[in-house]
Amino acid sequence: MPIAETRNTNPKNLIPGATGDWEVVIGMEVHAQVASKAKLFSGAPTDFGGAPNDHVSLVDAAMPGMLPVINEECVRQAIRTGLGLKAEINRHSVFARKNYFYPDLPQGYQISQYDQPIVGEGTVVVEVPDANGDMEEVRVGVERLHLEQDAGKSLHDQHPSMSFVDLNRSGVALMEIVSKPDLRSADEAKAFLTKLRTILRYLGTSDADMEKGNLRADINVSVRRPGEPFGTRCEIKNVNSIRFAGQAVEHEARRQIAILEDGGAIEQETRLFDPGRGETRSMRSKEEAHDYRYFPDPDLLPVEFDEAYVEALREGLPELPDDKRVRFQSEYGLSAYDSDVLVADRAIANFFEGVAHGRDGKQAANWVINELLGALNRADKSIEASPVSAHQLGALLDLQNDGTISGKIAKEVFDIMLQDGGDPGDIVEARGLKQVTDTGAIEALVDQVLGDNAEKATQAKEKPAMIGWFVGQVMKASQGKANPQAVNAMLKEKLGVE
Ligand code: ADP
Ligand code: MG
Repeated sequence: MPIAETRNTNPKNLIPGATGDWEVVIGMEVHAQVASKAKLFSGAPTDFGGAPNDHVSLVDAAMPGMLPVINEECVRQAIRTGLGLKAEINRHSVFARKNYFYPDLPQGYQISQYDQPIVGEGTVVVEVPDANGDMEEVRVGVERLHLEQDAGKSLHDQHPSMSFVDLNRSGVALMEIVSKPDLRSADEAKAFLTKLRTILRYLGTSDADMEKGNLRADINVSVRRPGEPFGTRCEIKNVNSIRFAGQAVEHEARRQIAILEDGGAIEQETRLFDPGRGETRSMRSKEEAHDYRYFPDPDLLPVEFDEAYVEALREGLPELPDDKRVRFQSEYGLSAYDSDVLVADRAIANFFEGVAHGRDGKQAANWVINELLGALNRADKSIEASPVSAHQLGALLDLQNDGTISGKIAKEVFDIMLQDGGDPGDIVEARGLKQVTDTGAIEALVDQVLGDNAEKATQAKEKPAMIGWFVGQVMKASQGKANPQAVNAMLKEKLGVE
């Protein structure tokens, strides 16, 4: 059945070839490990601190006569994820055996879902910069989400002549999330993975940590002339970083374009991305593809639940990034861009709200994004490891806003907080950083600076623009503590300019 076209061609996505423009088409199958203490069909733990084969039950080792028992927590997490993807929840779904032989798969089949998955069609909204640098919303269709078991791991590097198998992963619950072929560029592919990861983390249904391998993507790539039907695709297996996903798409699109422009044809095949070389290479062709002989697993009943169960889960969902983004714009007056940055990570969004509560939202966003996130980035620290708490940053803004310290001193105090920790009030007190608003003290400084620069002062009476220079000198003389508005007013008065 031909796949329905969902999008108009956007010129910015076209890739120029030697014989004209090409469009890349991408669809993804993303595997996310379910956040659950126990495996999908056994009580064995899912944490991987232990030695090889420490977390393996008789079910995971596929001992004869063992029977799988569904873990309700995994079902719950799959439904919650489906709701977060605005998807159809199927109240009747079926586990199927996907048969293949591999040493790290002791059952000889993987228990997965085939034609009756637990979650049907949904949508992920991603934002990508358009030709003008504005953010463009792209709606990416979700085809389905199903539950399945992970396999074990073969170890070939432990012994010169033997291979070993570690079954700790065997039977761990995965959610496979399949997108429609709605993505049209490497940037969109990266934005999709990023957004999916954010949603999973907001929901707490997967740690979605690509470095730890609990979020991996199989990326399907084809190219075509704009307006033509979809081309033959290649599938790039197990991409484990967002940056690699972008590189893999770009390389694969160029590879396919070169073949087609040379008069060749694309063979449907499975490829691997080699991050070292930045290229994809063939793993197996369509002819070598497995025949999985799917059939419903006779050891498991269909998964069924009622509408009330789904509704209760829907009620309990946290606010998701798209909703938070809209709320941040209306409640705090933030730009779309600032809202995007803040909601990309739930902990950052919470931190921001801790600072913004009862204060100027834009000012809070500027400090969190430009000062705090900038500093954390440079120190390679997460928001959880921030040396400055939301409460402390809020207190710093209060000191600036009530005139206790100047904006410049606020930055200095913030640097001290980052370095040494501590409350801004204490730092200001201990270091004598309070702003000088006392007119007498300011007048003395102004007189001193005017006296030291008598010639410039005469010129400034004719050229009031020079006042700025004098304000700078007085601020310097006060070590940044004078109130700049008061200095400015005093200078104008003394020089007799408006
Ligand atoms: P299969 O039945 O072989 O698993 P599907 O139709 O389910 O194939 O698609 C698998 C993945 O490949 C999906 O993510 C889908 O979006 C993507 N896909 C399908 N056709 C194309 C294509 N021509 N180009 C790029 N991606 C595609
Ligand atoms: Mg499929």
